[in-house]
Amino acid sequence: MTEIITKLLSLQDKDQRLRTLRTELDALPAEKTTKERLIAEAAARLDQARTRSKEIEVQKKSLEVEAAAKREQIAKYKTQQMQTRKNEEFSALSHEIEGVEKVVSTIEDREIELMEEAELLKPQISAAEQSYQQDKSKFEGQIAVLSEKTGNLKTRIAELETARTTAATEIDEDELDRYERLFRTKNGLAVVALEHDVCTGCHMKVTTQTSVELRAEKSIVSCPQCGRILHQPA
Ligand SMILES: [Zn+2]
Repeated sequence: MTEIITKLLSLQDKDQRLRTLRTELDALPAEKTTKERLIAEAAARLDQARTRSKEIEVQKKSLEVEAAAKREQIAKYKTQQMQTRKNEEFSALSHEIEGVEKVVSTIEDREIELMEEAELLKPQISAAEQSYQQDKSKFEGQIAVLSEKTGNLKTRIAELETARTTAATEIDEDELDRYERLFRTKNGLAVVALEHDVCTGCHMKVTTQTSVELRAEKSIVSCPQCGRILHQPA
């Protein structure tokens, strides 16, 4: 009887290891996705800073064009002033010039604001660039480790699966079925030790009769409480 228990324990050991390895393997894609998302977020922060900087350049150019047009208009008015002999027309043009000069002054203020913003953005962009490079290389390194881990886990799982198949063929079909059902339904613990007459699966004391039956080693003995297969501790 101890022989079958030994075989079952060996099988359970493989199944438990397989379960742990498969759980680890299953968690890896999500870990990888998290790292990829962190890289993308760093890239987005950099992109945002760069986009604002480009927007400022475009706005500055458009303001420059607008200011140039206004200055041209002022020059035109001044030429007209020189050509007129009518006082009324002269002062009307002076009034126009004053109005356009005010507009130019507003445009120039806006240009200064934009230049100041651009200056403030420069260190932000270089900080974002640096942090992006750092994050990228850090997380890419971690992704490479994950990929290596994935490969190693797959290899170990394949090896264990082969060993598991071999171990299972040595066990009688009925016993194997019973074991597998217990392993599935009892959280990966199908065969457990009985210690001081307490089942280490459900932590309940068994009857003296169960304990005696187990020591007799004549049949497979189950815990009356949880149904797990019992074995005597080594
Ligand atoms: Zn039990």
